[in-house]
Amino acid sequence: MSLEDERPPRPDGEPSPPPDGGVQRARQEADAPREPPEPPPPTPPPDSDPPAYNPQASVEGSVPETVGAVPRTAEAPVDRGRIIAVANQKGGVGKSTTAVNLGAALAESGARVLVVDMDPQGNASTGMGISPQQREITTYQVLAAGLPATRAIMETAVENLFAITSTIDLAGAEIELVSQFSREMRLTRALEGVVETFDYVILDCPPSLGLLTVNSLAAADELIVPIQCEYYALEGLGQLLRNVRLVQQNLNPRLRLTGIVLTMYDSRTKLAEQVVAEVRKYFGGRVYDTLIPRSVRLSEAPGYGQPITTYDPSSKGAQAYLALAAEVAEGPRDFDIPMPTEDMPEVVLPEPTPEMDGEEEREPSEAASRRRRGLFRRKGDES
Ligand code: ATP
Ligand code: MG
Repeated sequence: MSLEDERPPRPDGEPSPPPDGGVQRARQEADAPREPPEPPPPTPPPDSDPPAYNPQASVEGSVPETVGAVPRTAEAPVDRGRIIAVANQKGGVGKSTTAVNLGAALAESGARVLVVDMDPQGNASTGMGISPQQREITTYQVLAAGLPATRAIMETAVENLFAITSTIDLAGAEIELVSQFSREMRLTRALEGVVETFDYVILDCPPSLGLLTVNSLAAADELIVPIQCEYYALEGLGQLLRNVRLVQQNLNPRLRLTGIVLTMYDSRTKLAEQVVAEVRKYFGGRVYDTLIPRSVRLSEAPGYGQPITTYDPSSKGAQAYLALAAEVAEGPRDFDIPMPTEDMPEVVLPEPTPEMDGEEEREPSEAASRRRRGLFRRKGDES
């Protein structure tokens, strides 16, 4: 019996991906033509040496709409998938959870989805069930060595969900790329020829505004920002939005802030309600209706290497990400108010009530002292 025969069957009857052969299988699938059939992008034979990176070639190979390294088109080409960056330089707000579970929920609807792990922490890769040992060709080689992205694509256990994984090596790419030509456009170049074979390419960004996030924003059509329903919900958002504007002006005029996702929403707290109201005040129709609940099942799922849609399909978290996927699938909305850029408050605090005032006297915490200073504090306000 071959090794392949011993692998447990997938629910659809296909054998599970081999532990070390995922790259090869995944490349074959990723290169497979969609309807209507298209010729697959050229890839080198699997056992050939990777081509040496040639910065000049990357510019020479640019599409006609680009001048130098800067794309001039404000619209995405119609016949390709949507590239969605999930970014917020604030850590732990639910970026990776959203990238993986939104990706899985879209894949469940039949869409072909590629999740690209742009974070050296590799949380999205783990969340899709791909262990560090299985990650042979990763985002690092694609960005730093110029390997074709098709060689890095791996199958996951979820049908229609594919991954380009990352490892801690990717942390070095930020430094290595600094001196390189067209360093902000590496991911854009790498995704050319790949994005045509997917309906969605979702980029899980790291918690920083460094070169990896800039590469993601430069490549993306859309930006989704997860915001955690907590005191510091809005912290750093002004800075993120200024960077978005810079990328729009200098690298990628297509980029649109299409969605704010409110995460870890706890309906039992008044603060969560106030964060929702405050974020809707600033971002209007850009805020998705779906609120992602705080859920133990969502936090457990990555430990089992599964998105929530397979780990516990009936859970509130799974239902929420399916609802979010339905909203995302409707396409970018018309926005009722312009993207805010400046004067964002840093924190959202509960409106003081008479009862709370009494509590505050007995609660000399930092949060309580902020509450006394008013509903929220703006950048530059006297503290
Ligand atoms: P980083 O900035 O480090 O990349 P992140 O923004 O990607 O973090 P996640 O890794 O998705 O954030 O989430 C941070 C932690 O919160 C994780 O342990 C995750 O399992 C947990 N978490 C995310 N969303 C939820 C949720 N809705 N309910 C409960 N736990 C959640
Ligand atoms: Mg993350």
